[in-house]
Amino acid sequence: MELSKRQEEIIEIVKANAPITGEHIAEKLHLARATLRPDLAILTMAGFLDARPRVGYFFTGKTGSELLTEKIKQFKVYEYQSIPIVVKESVSVYEAISTMFLEDVGTLFVVDDKSHLCGVLSRKDLLRATIGQKDLNQIPVHIIMTRMPNITICRKEDLLIDVAKILIEKQIDGVPVVKDTQDGFEVIGRVTKTTITKAFVELTMDKR
Ligand code: ADP
Repeated sequence: MELSKRQEEIIEIVKANAPITGEHIAEKLHLARATLRPDLAILTMAGFLDARPRVGYFFTGKTGSELLTEKIKQFKVYEYQSIPIVVKESVSVYEAISTMFLEDVGTLFVVDDKSHLCGVLSRKDLLRATIGQKDLNQIPVHIIMTRMPNITICRKEDLLIDVAKILIEKQIDGVPVVKDTQDGFEVIGRVTKTTITKAFVELTMDKR
């Protein structure tokens, strides 16, 4: 986050005089205590300052980039996951390609009769299946998909940064967010490279 000139000044005052009360910071800046209240609240919430009741303000010693890193490490999958697009394992490659275009996604998740996750279809899986094939309506996707138990999954409480590392490590574009059921995984969301890009951009907009 970008600090205002006054916020920078407050940090310098606290660094040199800690512990120091809000009253005393205001005096040093020749301002009213009430005028400073929003700045002190922002600096405390952002983690630059620590406020101890009846003692005063301390400087936490954390730099902007350390605080940013801490913030990123707290992002949870459920805050960013998007809607998953699923197809049944009996649908044809032709139908899966149509679904991918209509839904505007790069990865489809495949489910069985009980709606449990059983496969993943990427763009290249479908492209590969089209090479040399005459009738794409005749090939069911379960023949060409990457199947369980080789599917990398995540859960909604997982940290987004851990999923980002998995995407890089496994060289895949996305993972399904699943809920554990008695006899399989229910697909409840998806995290893709786009999800990570969105989280990255959001950081610069100070929404959080
Ligand atoms: P593309 O092949 O279109 O570049 P990916 O890099 O996501 O897309 O896929 C590469 C391969 O990994 C494909 O064969 C795909 O089926 C498989 N794959 C994609 N996502 C997963 C996943 N979450 N778990 C396991 N395999 C996956």
